[in-house]
Amino acid sequence: MSPCYTDPVTRPTLIAANWKMNPPPEGWNAIESPYRQTDGVDIVVFPPFVYLKSCIAAGLRTGAQCGHPEPAGAHTGCISMAMTAQEGCEAVLCGHSDRRRDQKETDNFIAEQVVAAFENKLFAILCIGETEKEREAGREREVVERQLQSVLDLLQSTTYNLQAIAYEPVWAIGTGRNATPEQAQEMHAFIRSLLPETHQSATRILYGGSMNAANAEELLRQPDIDGGLVGGASLKSEEFRKIVAVAAVHHR
Ligand code: PEP
Repeated sequence: MSPCYTDPVTRPTLIAANWKMNPPPEGWNAIESPYRQTDGVDIVVFPPFVYLKSCIAAGLRTGAQCGHPEPAGAHTGCISMAMTAQEGCEAVLCGHSDRRRDQKETDNFIAEQVVAAFENKLFAILCIGETEKEREAGREREVVERQLQSVLDLLQSTTYNLQAIAYEPVWAIGTGRNATPEQAQEMHAFIRSLLPETHQSATRILYGGSMNAANAEELLRQPDIDGGLVGGASLKSEEFRKIVAVAAVHHR
């Protein structure tokens, strides 16, 4: 199935649309929808749970914004990784900072989600990133290393490897204040260096945090930025179309 698994060695550009708690944007299911897979760029949409089925039925490559690691049980309001996979989802976000903040998801719980995602053949995008306070204190590397390491530690007891990470500095999410290309590249290279050597070149590292049509080019041009996790700008279909067009030019 998934385009997300294609040719990992060359790390084709991946643009992920995180619609958060918003309905699908205008034109989402049109024939010319920018949310459809296109040549040279992998595109995945992450709608709220209630829209998963319609997005899948419309032929969009679709992922869940989260998933509980247990297959079933007493977790009111949650949906398991197994259920999202059964619905036809191909991907899942793990550890988005909204959930680390609102649902108090811990590093350990997020690591369990990643493993459960792989067990259910979902393409997991692990989200990591520091808060503004942590960056001001010069702790950004320490924080992303801790977040990543807890997942790598759990994966060590499995045969799975991380396929995709989204570096999303919390201070850049939804603020209109993206990381500079230099800041992002520096962190992406650092994150890549923390991965097992055998998987450094195959793991896609996306940038997230106020990516838009105006800044996508300079971000996607960086050697260690393999795509974007786009929130606000993914809710405006024409803006999103422009981001995808930029990504198509920079595809590897
Ligand atoms: C996000 O929510 O993952 C995100 C990157 O949002 P935005 O693009 O709005 O900053």
